[in-house]
Amino acid sequence: MDWLWVRLHTDDGVTGLGETYPCSDAEAAVAVRSLAPLLLGRDPSQIDRLWADMLLATSYHGWAGVEMRVISAIDIALWDLAGKVARQPIYKLLGGASRESIPIYNTCYDRVDFLTEPVRLAEELLASGVTAMKIWPFDSIALAQCGGRGHSISAAELRQGLAPLEKIRAALGDKMDLAMEFHGYWNLPCAIRIARALEPLAPMWLEEMLPQDNLAAYAELARHTHLPLTISERLMTRWGFREVLANRAAQVIMPDLCWCGGLSEAKKIAAMAEVEYLPVAPHNCGGPVLHQASVHLAANVTNLAILETVRRHYLDEYDGILTDLVKPANGRLPLPAGPGLGVDLTPGLLQCDNVRVEFVRP
Ligand SMILES: [Mg+2]
Repeated sequence: MDWLWVRLHTDDGVTGLGETYPCSDAEAAVAVRSLAPLLLGRDPSQIDRLWADMLLATSYHGWAGVEMRVISAIDIALWDLAGKVARQPIYKLLGGASRESIPIYNTCYDRVDFLTEPVRLAEELLASGVTAMKIWPFDSIALAQCGGRGHSISAAELRQGLAPLEKIRAALGDKMDLAMEFHGYWNLPCAIRIARALEPLAPMWLEEMLPQDNLAAYAELARHTHLPLTISERLMTRWGFREVLANRAAQVIMPDLCWCGGLSEAKKIAAMAEVEYLPVAPHNCGGPVLHQASVHLAANVTNLAILETVRRHYLDEYDGILTDLVKPANGRLPLPAGPGLGVDLTPGLLQCDNVRVEFVRP
């Protein structure tokens, strides 16, 4: 995965860091050609106003996609700047800590395969204090079909998909909470069948069983199972999330800070969810700045359920990128230190061969 980092510089020599992903030429062009000229010379403390102006400048064909990903990166950089100027961690500017530490689950992109060694993986996580994990054992069944979509599922395939959960439950009982990810690969009748088959195993939630484009179908799925559904890592802005809430399409709301519109928008989406008595569980399966920014949001929002983490990322893949990173201890994340995000790009990183740098000057 390639990441796009945005670094904003003030006249006073303060910098703010933001991120989005993936980083294609399209994201870089929006950052450099469309949005940087709009930001130059402006007051970086006017975060809401700048966000509104960036939306206006890019809303000629809707607000979803590349443009909103870059707005997200810039918004995170503006909050980093604000925190550095105020000499406070971002979560304090958002309204302060709502908890002493942050509950996490582990998404299992891991050296231990959840299909072949689910119990060993669960035992390793439990030994490190992590008591919730996310796996996707039905994906390979859907991906083998036309267009990588689950159009049908046989009794044998259903049994195959259930197997990792059954093994973990048999070996460890209810010590491990199990979130089920489906990456939007299934159609409605298959999703209903899978959900009902999973009910006796009491998973924590069923995530993105269907694509997110038809939320009425999601509402129908919700009526067919008592298990909590979640979607929305790919949704953008408060208007996108309004549809999920209005359709009662999910019981756990999952914004991605690097996609939904940044820290500003994620905070507003969390408040919208709270009005519906729903929790948020931010999506955090991207780059290191997303991780750090997500920890600040998770420290603050009152209706946090749990925060996603990936041990392969924070133990390995993020190494050498940031000056510091909040890492879990005993299955929880500590409150991040500031100021701002509390991290910066490692000195010398921008000189690496696989990093492309573009400057926009007044
Ligand atoms: Mg997901």
